Order: sequence, then structure tokens, then C-alpha cells
Amino acid sequence: MDHPSPTEPHAEIREEVRKLCARFPGEYWRRLDAQRAYPSEFVAALTEAGYLSVLIPEEYGGAGLGLSAASAILETIHREGCNGAACHAQMYTMGTVLRHGTVAQKERYLPEIAAGRLRLQAFGVTEPTSGTDTGALRTTARREGDRYIVNGQKVWTSRAEHSDLMLLLARTSPREAGGKKTDGLSVFLVDMREVLGHGLTIRPIRTMMNHNSCEVFFDNMAIPAEALIGEAGKGFRYILDGMNAERLLIASECIGDAKWFTARAVAYANERRVFDRPIGQNQGVQFPIARAYAQMRAAELLVRAGCAKFEAGEACGEEANMAKLLAADAAWAAAEACVQTHGGFGFAEEYDVERKFRETRLYQVAPISTNLILSYIAEHVLGLPRSY
Ligand SMILES: Cc1cc2nc3c(=O)[nH]c(=O)nc-3n(C[C@H](O)[C@H](O)[C@H](O)COP(=O)(O)OP(=O)(O)OC[C@H]3O[C@@H](n4cnc5c(N)ncnc54)[C@H](O)[C@@H]3O)c2cc1C
Repeated sequence: MDHPSPTEPHAEIREEVRKLCARFPGEYWRRLDAQRAYPSEFVAALTEAGYLSVLIPEEYGGAGLGLSAASAILETIHREGCNGAACHAQMYTMGTVLRHGTVAQKERYLPEIAAGRLRLQAFGVTEPTSGTDTGALRTTARREGDRYIVNGQKVWTSRAEHSDLMLLLARTSPREAGGKKTDGLSVFLVDMREVLGHGLTIRPIRTMMNHNSCEVFFDNMAIPAEALIGEAGKGFRYILDGMNAERLLIASECIGDAKWFTARAVAYANERRVFDRPIGQNQGVQFPIARAYAQMRAAELLVRAGCAKFEAGEACGEEANMAKLLAADAAWAAAEACVQTHGGFGFAEEYDVERKFRETRLYQVAPISTNLILSYIAEHVLGLPRSY
């Protein structure tokens, strides 16, 4: 359980990522957590080793590997007690540029992203008033000659302060009567370096864990017309295309978290003696850990099945959504068992358990909440009526 096994997919990548993570132990993350600071050194190390560009095709300077490689990387980061949230967005937002961008956009941005000279870490979808109901978003981008003028606000735009580029979803035409609510939305690749302080304002939000999430304000922000990705009005579809990849990668992080919590819980349960015997000898201590482990293994199979379908170009919405749901639940069950096993020490910062516990709670809500996944399964997999 402690180390990746040689029979796991991408075992070599897992082993190399494990070695890299060993340079960033608990005290590194604890210090950043206390200061709510960004793990710049960790992200630089991952970038330098090429792990953040594994999905970028070789012709643009990346490794050209499949989603299962990215999944192995993020799982290992979390399994080793680190956190990929500081940089994972680049892996899945890049896909929108790759699939729907022009040749000029790909040639301009992808090699720079692959080389680590440009960071594509910010993804601006959620707004304070629209929430889960993306079609109701209010940020507008109005065409004016060779530019778009953007007005509105985003919330929970993670890493905005630590990114050069932002993938932005905004409304370019009003919702047509009878049309879909999500028609008229467009995606832009915004170079934030050009507009920061000139129509773009970023304000960090302090959260229960160290996540570098922000509010972002657009006040007559002018961006070049070439920032538009694909066709105007089709942006929601482009974003949806990337969501299965996002769900499978977040699920991989949850699997990593579940493995970390389980390893910690087992080690402590074997070592801690109360009433002259290890606490792990009590079934009341063993069973929640064993149950969470079983949940994790089932979710892991779905993550792998989803990645295999994604790589084969097959529809994988069912697997991606269920993998995210079950992996997030398994991580949460393992987190709960780990805190309980540690008794009072589960609350002490120096054990890292309370920090990871706060971090893994997020996945019940973001990037998509548990209820919305259940709605997806009910409607799109089982054929029940849409509930919202
Ligand atoms: C730390 C953090 C980082 C994030 N990073 C990003 C980011 O980088 N970019 C970005 O765009 N967004 C980001 N988000 C936003 C995240 O995707 C949303 O918080 C999430 O999708 C839920 O939306 P909401 O917060 O508006 O909740 P709401 O939509 O207000 O929902 C609140 C609750 O009601 C439930 N609910 C709503 N509608 C229904 C329904 N029809 N049926 C059943 N239940 C329902 C939801 O499940 C949820 O539990 C981040 C959020 C957090 C907390």
C-alpha cells in the first residue's frame, strides 16, 4: 500500500513522480497552508520534469501521452501527500485549445505551455449568481471591431494569480427564445498579463484549505478578437468536451487521497497501543478503514475504465461521472476513518491528517457537486426525467 506497485499502469511514471514528491514533505505543505501560499517550487519541479505537459502532443513540445498517464501522475501526487490542485487545470483546459483552437493559436500557445514559459491554470466559468446553472451566466463579451469588450464577474477562479492565461466562458449573444440556455456562450483564451490592471481585477478568497481561488472582475476589459476559441456561440459544447477528462483526473486525485489516508490510518492503527494492544486489533477501528479501501478499489477500476474509453475516443460520460462520484466518496470515507483512527492526533497539524481532510472535502462540491453527478446519471444513463 505504501508505494506504487510495479504492476500498476504507468508504473515507471508513478515511481518517478513519487521520488519528486519526496522532495516536498508534509512540513512544506503545512507551511504553505498556514500562509495560504502557492507551491511555486513544487509546480516548477513538475513543470521542469515535463509532467504538466504529458497530454500536449509531441509536435507542440509535449509528451503526447494519454489520459491514463496524466491520471497516474495526479494520483501519485496525492498518494504521496502532496496536492495537484495548484496546477492540474493545465492538463484539462489545454484540451479545449487543442481540439477547438486554430492552427495559429495552437502554434502560438501550446509549445510555450509545454516548455513551462506560459501557464494556463485559470478556468473562468462559475459566477456568483449563476452557480451550477452555467447557462445563466452573466459575463458578456461584446464584439467591437477587432476586439471583444468583456464585462462581468467570475468567482472561484482558482490559481488566477498564478496563471498567465485564462480560459474564459462568456456570453456573446443573448439567449434566443426557444433555444438552449447554453447557446450564445463563447470561450476565450485571455492573456491576463495584457489586461491585468486594465479592465481585469483579481481578488483572492481565503478558504478552509489552501487553494488560491479568486474573484475575478471584468470592467470593459478589451481582448483581441483572435482570443476567441472556435466558433462564437458554441463555447459551452467546447467546455463540455473537456469535462470528462477533468472528472477522470479529479477522480484520480481522490484515489490518491484515499490511498494516502488509508496508508496513514493503517500505520497508526498498527503502532498505537491502548489497553496493551494495537488499536488496529479492534474491529471497530479496522472496519471503517477496510470499507473505505474497498470503496477506493472499486472507484479505481472505474477511473481506469473511463481513461481507457477516453483514450479510445469512445463516449465516457457515464464512467467519468461515476468515477468522480465514487472516488470522491471513497476519499471522504478514508479521510473520516483516518481522523477517527488517529483520535486526538487527527486534529494536530503536524500529522497532516487534518490538512488533507480539509483538502479532500472539496471534491464533494467542486468541480461538480455530488448532486449534479447523480442528476447526470439519473437523466443521461438511466433515462429518468430531467429534474432541473
Ligand atoms: C475551492 C474551489 C475552487 C474552485 N475552482 C473553480 C475554478 O477554477 N473555476 C470555476 O469556474 N469554478 C471553480 N469552482 C466552482 C465550483 O465548480 C462550484 O462551486 C460548484 O460547481 C458548485 O457551484 P456553486 O458553488 O455555485 O453551488 P450552487 O450551484 O449554488 O449549489 C449549491 C448546492 O446546491 C446543490 N444544487 C444546486 N442545484 C441543484 C439541483 N438542481 N439538484 C440538486 N442539487 C442542486 C448543489 O449540489 C450544491 O450542493 C471552485 C469552487 C471551489 C469551492
